[in-house]
Amino acid sequence: MGKLYIVPTPIGNLNDITLRALETLRTVDMILAEDTRTSSILLSKFGITNKLLSHHKFNEHQTVLTVAGRIAEGADLALISDAGTPGISDPGFLLVRTCLEQGIEVECLPGPTALIPALLNSGLPCDRFCFEGFLPVKKGRQTRLKMLATEERTMVFYESPHRLLRTLQQFIEYFGAERTACVSRELSKIHEENVRGTLQEIEAHFREHPAKGEIVIVLAGLK
Ligand code: SAM
Repeated sequence: MGKLYIVPTPIGNLNDITLRALETLRTVDMILAEDTRTSSILLSKFGITNKLLSHHKFNEHQTVLTVAGRIAEGADLALISDAGTPGISDPGFLLVRTCLEQGIEVECLPGPTALIPALLNSGLPCDRFCFEGFLPVKKGRQTRLKMLATEERTMVFYESPHRLLRTLQQFIEYFGAERTACVSRELSKIHEENVRGTLQEIEAHFREHPAKGEIVIVLAGLK
């Protein structure tokens, strides 16, 4: 019986890969990657020539059983996503669940993910927080926002730049203009930016300077 390794990869700065991640990616029998072209850039930087197999949200329902079967037959496999920790707003959960159901050992290496640096950069309480990932785009969005209006823990959301302004406007509607927040952009990259303030101030900032790149919104809980 082999083992499934979940291997986090950098969210921007390639130097954030861990020594254990590199060793695991070198020594497993095969690497499952969300986008083999994106991952081959990372792997070639570190001289890793291991086999890559495509594993993404469009094929994972079909492939999890085959993949789990290979591990059960003795292969050690590593799962990586395009950036950060697999399973966190990325494919991974289905494979982990299937492996565990089949008695296959799963080991997740600690490593990069966007939500933790965004949470700490915000200066908002991080002793208790909830991760909301991407809000539903249409169906279920209002219900989720209504539910979160009474949430007392700090909340962390992933968002795309073209939806940021609309989301901040909706946050003002549901959480109030004076609720504090932080928008982190391009974490660990050259143009990293953390905009802190009330929702009203942050919305005004991004109305004047349209957002580009990757974004995390951290929102204070209800006081
Ligand atoms: N698995 C990843 C993780 O562990 O954070 C998340 C993958 S999800 C498909 C991509 C989203 O993560 C982006 O839209 C953005 O919200 C957030 N993200 C990823 N990298 C980021 C970065 N360098 N700066 C800010 N947000 C980032």
